[in-house]
Amino acid sequence: SSRALPKPDWLRVRPAESENFNKLRTTVRKSGLATVCEEARCPNIGECWGGGDDGTATATIMIMGDTCTRGCSFCSVKTSRRPPPVDTDEPKKVAEAVKEWGLDYVVLTSVDRDDMPDQGSGHFRAVVQAIKRESPEMLVEALTPDFQGNVDFIDKVATSGLDVYAHNVETVERLQRRMRDHRANYWQSLGVLERVKEVNSNIVTKTSLMLGVGETDEDLTQTLKDLRSANVDVVTFGQYLQPSKRHMPVKAYVTPEKFQEWQEVAEGMGFKYVASGPLVRSSYKAGEFFLKALVK
Ligand code: SF4
Ligand code: SF4
Repeated sequence: SSRALPKPDWLRVRPAESENFNKLRTTVRKSGLATVCEEARCPNIGECWGGGDDGTATATIMIMGDTCTRGCSFCSVKTSRRPPPVDTDEPKKVAEAVKEWGLDYVVLTSVDRDDMPDQGSGHFRAVVQAIKRESPEMLVEALTPDFQGNVDFIDKVATSGLDVYAHNVETVERLQRRMRDHRANYWQSLGVLERVKEVNSNIVTKTSLMLGVGETDEDLTQTLKDLRSANVDVVTFGQYLQPSKRHMPVKAYVTPEKFQEWQEVAEGMGFKYVASGPLVRSSYKAGEFFLKALVK
């Protein structure tokens, strides 16, 4: 049936109030930069911006505009074949803003820019380098497009001084076509992650999976094996939530207990860090994960 499944209690969002959170929100709004945390109304904003258990403040900034050249059935970002050109001052603006915000860890993410000759890889590199120049201690993660598997473009970002290279496979192999734009695919995304480690073995690689889209346990186990074969260090699992009626419907609400099981399965397979839970998102308290993974 096409009737929407009722939302379970465990997806209820916690209120986002703390001194750190309020302070960061004020400075972010003044800067005029777009954060995924606010734009996507991320349920974890209180924890990420507030600094979580160990006081590590994390935020995700969207670069290269708000318009994507692709269209994935789970995603609410607007699309166009010819988005407006990127802002060449963006590296400077972002570097100044994250310094002022007092973050410990910043995640950069972007729309896909298949319209640009280098698909935006040079811009990504420039933003990372500008941040590292302004704030050498800042940990930087980039959640990148697949760059259509182009090795030169992947290398540009992987050798930019970045600490964590994230690229999402999003779902198991069998459901790629249903969820992702036709230019994306499972093996291309695995190839991106594998290439990153080849060109820079010091970097941490990371990917995220959405559960509740029709995957079976078998599908998911195979995906985890494939990710380990591509040397991926960190994996996160979260519940897919339908952004609007026009988007792909939720197939199942996976229970917190089941997320815990996947956490244990993945840890047993040798991932360096695993985050798994209904409200976990790719960048969920990423600073905390990264610091923990490093001291291990
Ligand atoms: Fe959304 Fe990324 Fe797909 Fe673009 S490529 S539609 S930003 S998920
Ligand atoms: Fe922002 Fe990511 Fe944390 Fe959500 S999970 S608040 S998008 S840093």
